[in-house]
This record gives sequence, C-alpha cells and structure tokens, in this order.
Amino acid sequence: MVTLQKEVEGIREERNNVAKKMKGKLEPSERERLVEEGKNLKESLVTLEEDLMKLQDELQHVARSIPNMTHPDVPVGGEDSSAIRNEVGSPREFSFPIKDHLQLGKDLDLMDFDSAAEVSGSKFFYLKNEAVLLEMALLNWTLSEVMKKGFTPLTTPEIVRSSIVEKCGFQPRGDNTQVYSIDGTDQCLIGTAEIPVGGIHMDSILLESALPLKYIAFSHCFRTEAGAAGAAAKGLYRVHQFSKAEMFVLCRPEDSESFHNELIQIEEDLFTSLGLHFKTLDMATADLGAPAYRKFDIEAWMPGLGRFGEISSASNCTDYQSRRLGIRFRPSEPLQTGSKKGKANLPSTKFVHTLNATACAVPRMMVCLLENYQQEDGSVVVPETLRPFMGGIEVIKPKL
Ligand code: AMP
Repeated sequence: MVTLQKEVEGIREERNNVAKKMKGKLEPSERERLVEEGKNLKESLVTLEEDLMKLQDELQHVARSIPNMTHPDVPVGGEDSSAIRNEVGSPREFSFPIKDHLQLGKDLDLMDFDSAAEVSGSKFFYLKNEAVLLEMALLNWTLSEVMKKGFTPLTTPEIVRSSIVEKCGFQPRGDNTQVYSIDGTDQCLIGTAEIPVGGIHMDSILLESALPLKYIAFSHCFRTEAGAAGAAAKGLYRVHQFSKAEMFVLCRPEDSESFHNELIQIEEDLFTSLGLHFKTLDMATADLGAPAYRKFDIEAWMPGLGRFGEISSASNCTDYQSRRLGIRFRPSEPLQTGSKKGKANLPSTKFVHTLNATACAVPRMMVCLLENYQQEDGSVVVPETLRPFMGGIEVIKPKL
C-alpha cells in the first residue's frame, strides 16, 4: 500500500511539473509532446488511484472487524467480572408499598405507551404533562452543568451516512445490528450523538493548540434493540427512540486517561446532585464493545426493578475511531534550530484520542427519579436541582 501511495504521489508531482512547464513559452512540437505526456500521466493516475482506493477500502474492511486493544487494568471476563470503582449513597427505605415507573406514569398521567404502540409499534412512548417538563428540565440542567466545564453545546443530524457509523465502530448492516438503516439509501438513524460528533472532524488535521475539543451534544437516539427481552424491556427502560445528552472529547493521546477520569467525575457529580444511589463499574473485557479501550458504566438503584440498572457509560476509544475517521493533529514542536522551513520539516501528524460519555439518557433517568422520589400519597417530588428548570414545580401530583 505504501509503495502504491508513493507511486501515486510521484505521478501527481510529475503531472504538476508538466503543467508548470506548459505555462511557459514553448515550441509547438514541445507543447504537443508535453500535452501527450500529461495525457499519459493522467491515465496512469486514474488507474493507480482506483487501485489505491480499492486497497484502502479492503484495509478499512479488515480493520473494522478488529476491536480496540484493552487497557491492562481492565478486568478479564464477562458481565459478572466488572469491578466496582465507586459507590455513592444507599437505597431509599420505603415505609409503604412502592409503584414502578409504569404505574406511576399511569396514575399521574405522565406517559402513554398504548397510543404509541398503535401509532409506531411496541417500545415507543408519548410523554405527557409534567413528564414533558421533566425531560426538558433534565436536558437543560445537564447541558448548563456540563457547559460550565468548558464543553461546547451541539445539536446534531440524526440521520448519517452508514460509512460514518461503521468508522465509529458500529455495524450498520451486521447480523445483530442495533442500527436502523434507511432502505434504498446509504444512510442510518443514529444510535448515539457520538457518531455525528465524531464525524465533524473526519479527514482533518487539527492543531495541537486546538485540543482538547470537548462537546456536549443533544440528540435523539434510535436503536432496534434486537433480541432484548425480560422485565427490564418494559416501560421506559428499553425503548427504540430516546433523547440523550452525550459528552465527546478529542484530545492528545497522553491526555485521554485523565479526560476519561474527568468524564466519569462529571457523570458522578450530576447523578449525586440528583440524589441517586449508584455505583461506577470498570467494565470487563467481554462488555467493552469494539471501539472502547476501557469503559466505566454507572448503574443506579431502581426501586421498581428492585435492582441497579445502567444509566450511563463512559468510554475511552483511544485512536480506534480517529484512525478510521482520519482525525489527526499536528504536534506544535518548535522547529530545530538551523532547519529549513517547509513541509518536510513540519512535525509528523498523530491520531487524536476520542472519548464519549453519557451525561443524561432521559428515559432511565426518569425511571430513577419517578421511582426514587415517589411518596405515599402517590405523588412524586421533583429534585431541588431541577425545579428552576421546571417553572418551580415541586411535586408532581395526581390529576383531579
Ligand atoms: P450506550 O450508548 O449504549 O452506552 O448507552 C448510553 C445510555 O443510554 C445507557 O446507559 C442507558 O442509560 C441509555 N440507553 C441505551 N439504550 C437504551 C434504550 N434502548 N432505551 C432507553 N435508554 C437506553
């Protein structure tokens, strides 16, 4: 591949030289010779560029089937092997029989799954009344908190090219895909804002001084949830469409581990402010997925389920996505004294590292808030942090 690349570059240079020569005063016979030479070079270039593209595609295809490396400290094994990094709070004790979020949603007139099933299919939902305000409040509050840490807010396209989905490490047309592909197009619905945000900088060389780039992106997420079943598949826990605020960082390789810690800290601070009981887990090798080098999930206590449920995930993807998306940076090392200026003396480029982390995936936050903040009279208290974002509503009460 390198030989072919060099050959293509060599011919491009020759063609440029011919073009330059043709700008000068020339004998007609010399001009004719140069026109002929230019034509031949163009023909060879077209063939070689096609070969190079084919080879690059093949290489990308092979690369896509290989997962990222794993951090040496990642626990080896399946779901049960993940290690607890942190635990905050304790489960709330209830002195009355509790309801799950589905029952609360029904009794407080907050959700409509039946109409959504008629209109769209199972695992879709309408939110109603205070639940709509709660969704907006959760997102607005999360964005405002994360922006305080220097993250740039974004909304994103929710339909993207399948090639970008693939380059981010998801399989749009695989056997067990979670991705909705749009028939007759090369496009998909996004499963997470990580994909369109990763795509913003594809095929670019960033300046080292521009790093880190930190985004907090709002989007809807669409997932087929192929094969998902069980009690946790009921209600809001596992749905086909939901809204989410996602953090995404592009940084120098040497900084990605500390940004990973920063992202986890932000998540933990957000969930602590909401008064949730949760634990942070260092996910084991079998649970990493293709792009993650290391992944920390946060699971919160869901009284209706009677167990912890995943509410967020923070992954360091190192250079897995940036290699496929072609996102590099040029280190700003000073030029050596006495060295000639010019392209040959610029420091060579490196791939950035990318990280992503959930700041707020709305449905499971709703499950936690409704179930944990329910009261004996059937009402639900709104956490204090969210009240200013909900027009001051303190309690969600049964409708008269
Ligand atoms: P992931 O991008 O798969 O790491 O998911 C990030 C977060 O989105 C999870 O921690 C969940 O809170 C939420 N989530 C993922 N899939 C679903 C789903 N099908 N329905 C509702 N929430 C989901």
